[in-house]
Parts: sequence; C-alpha cells; structure tokens
Amino acid sequence: MSNIILTGDRPTGKLHIGHFAGSLKQRVLLQNSGKFDEIYIMLADAQALTDNADNPEKVRNNILEVALDYLACGIDPEKSSIFIQSQLPQLYELSFHYMNLVTVSRLQRNPTVKAEIAQKNFEQSIPVGFFTYPISQAADITAFEATAVPVGEDQKPMLEQTVEIVRKFNSTYGETLVEPQILLEQNAACLRLPGIDGKAKMSKSIGNCIYLSDSEKEVHDKIFSMFTDPGHLKASDPGKIEGNTVFTYLDAFAVPEDFAKFNSPYPNLDEMKAHYQRGGLGDVAVKKFLNEVMQQILSPIRTRRQQYEQDIPFVIDVLKKGTEKAYDKAAKTLEKVRRAMKLNHFEAGLKLQSK
Ligand code: ATP
Ligand code: MG
Repeated sequence: MSNIILTGDRPTGKLHIGHFAGSLKQRVLLQNSGKFDEIYIMLADAQALTDNADNPEKVRNNILEVALDYLACGIDPEKSSIFIQSQLPQLYELSFHYMNLVTVSRLQRNPTVKAEIAQKNFEQSIPVGFFTYPISQAADITAFEATAVPVGEDQKPMLEQTVEIVRKFNSTYGETLVEPQILLEQNAACLRLPGIDGKAKMSKSIGNCIYLSDSEKEVHDKIFSMFTDPGHLKASDPGKIEGNTVFTYLDAFAVPEDFAKFNSPYPNLDEMKAHYQRGGLGDVAVKKFLNEVMQQILSPIRTRRQQYEQDIPFVIDVLKKGTEKAYDKAAKTLEKVRRAMKLNHFEAGLKLQSK
C-alpha cells in the first residue's frame, strides 16, 4: 500500500504561527522525509464557505495568500500537489454518499463542531453545510486514499469520524476505502497554540494571530502586547508559567541553541522559567527573548514569501497543476465507490429481476 498524505487549510485568512507550529512545520518535514509516495495539500475553499456563505470574496482573496504561505514555508510543488477543493466535484459526491452512513446525533457529539458553533454564535441557526463539514472532511481524506493526515489537535474528532465512516462503508459495501491515521505534532505546546490574547486557540476567525507574513515590527509589537500572568505586576513578583502565553510560545518555538545565540543569561528554558516563578524576571526580558526566537523563524519565511509574491503566474500554475493531479486521483476513488455502492448501472448492465 502507498503512503499518502492529505492535509490542508481553509482559505479564510493568511496563515499564522499556530498553523506553522501545529501542522505546517511537520508537513514540510514529512514532505522532505522521502517516506511518502504522494502528498496532497488542499485549499478548503468549499469548506470555508460553510460558515462564510455570504462572503465568497474573502475566500477567493485568500486562496493565493495561503498558497504563498505554503511555498514560503517550504512546501515544494515538485513533491506536494497543492489543489483547490471546490474544483473537484468528486468530493461533493462522496460527501453526499457518506451522509447516509452518519447519524445526526453522531454529528452533534463532535466536540470541535460544538465549540465552533458556540464561538460563531450559531446556536439558533446552524447552516446544514457547516454542521456536516466533518463528513465532507471524510470525503476529502478518503478521496486521496490518505494513510496519514498531519493536522492540529482540533482535527482529532474529524479523523475519528472519518475512520468510523470508512469502517461503516467497507462493512456495508465491501473493502473500498483506506483508513487514515492522524499525525499529531509531538510538542504539546504546538498542538493548540493559544492566541496572543491568551484566551482561545490562535485562529484566523478570531483575529488573535501573529501571521507568517507580518512585518518585523508587527511581530515585535504583537509580542510586546501579549498576555502573560496578570498577577505578575512587578519584575520582583513571583510569576506563573501555567497559562502564560509567552512561555507557551517559548515551549513551542525556542530550541536549546537559542539561549547561547541570543545571549540569554539562562542556559535553557527550565532555568528561565524557574527564575520567573521565583520572582526577579520581568515580562519585558522574556518578551525580548521570544521576539528574537520568533524573528529568527519568521524572517526567512517572510523573505521567501516576498519573492513568490513577485511571481504570481508561477503560483497560479502550481495550483492548476496540483488541482489536475488531485482531480485524477479523486476520480479514480469515486469510480471505486460507485462500483461498490452499485451505482455504476450502465457499466454493470441493468437487468429486469422480476422476470
Ligand atoms: P478558521 O478560524 O477559519 O477555522 P483556523 O485558524 O482555525 O481558521 P484552519 O484552516 O481551520 O485554521 O486550520 C488549518 C490547520 O491548522 C488544521 O490542521 C488545524 O488543526 C491547524 N491549526 C489551526 N489553528 C491552530 C493552532 N492555534 N494551533 C495548532 N494548530 C492549529
Ligand atoms: Mg479552524
């Protein structure tokens, strides 16, 4: 069996450091590991419309932005096919068939959808398309016969639901679909990176983000405005690490070499945390260090992004070629599904059974 990756993002805004920590960084590593036969990265524009139906312009405008973010981070179009979800009608058809295999109560139990419904104040008026988007994600994943799906932790319930759909489909219609596995980031701080407000997960829709395309000054200013420990008023006060976003970001992004490189008085993060907890270490010093760590990561990404911005026809060509390749793959899977579901009537030959 081939090793195949399917992953993606909703083009609802530029990508941020939560995407980088939770999924993008790992995608690039997996892409370059040589362990995968095929890699598909989807711009989930149709899914983005499930809660942005009245704003198609926003979705369109973000297609190129997200594609630029991918290329800037090191997604290589020679190794990974970047494609646009809406251009593959096969995905809509698969979703329609899978809807017969999922109950309304099962969808209602999905914790990520529940949280998003609350966040978007949808309680009284949930669009059906939004409610059923975990089914469309199962279509996306299975269309590519994906064995591995590198995504953030909020996607875990989607993967569980996809596995259930695969099993139900295969037991009902015969072995057809491939069961995927979620690939979660190992570093716990990266799984669900909080926003700079320290409240919810960093999310395009909430606007609490540091974007990969932010300027050096924007990154600096956002870091210096970040939520820390509200009880840590003076540098001499003992401070809390738990729930302190600046330390969560250091957990996610600082590497051991950074301490010597940026002339930190601490040999490692544990010592820095210990001093903060004892009292005597101010927020400004911690934020200054975090700023150096983040600028080091973001600066080459920003430069590469600016280079690709100069050649948009190349980016469009990458999307066209990726979409063509993805189309062919999804078409093959849909053919298998139709055959398994006995929907290939003319190919199989219709016969009158009653005579
Ligand atoms: P939206 O607000 O439109 O839902 P988003 O910021 O949540 O946008 P998505 O496109 O929904 O981004 O998510 C794309 C991928 O990035 C998913 O795999 C998701 O798990 C991961 N991801 C998003 N936000 C974070 C975060 N804060 N920390 C870790 N991973 C994240
Ligand atoms: Mg999301």
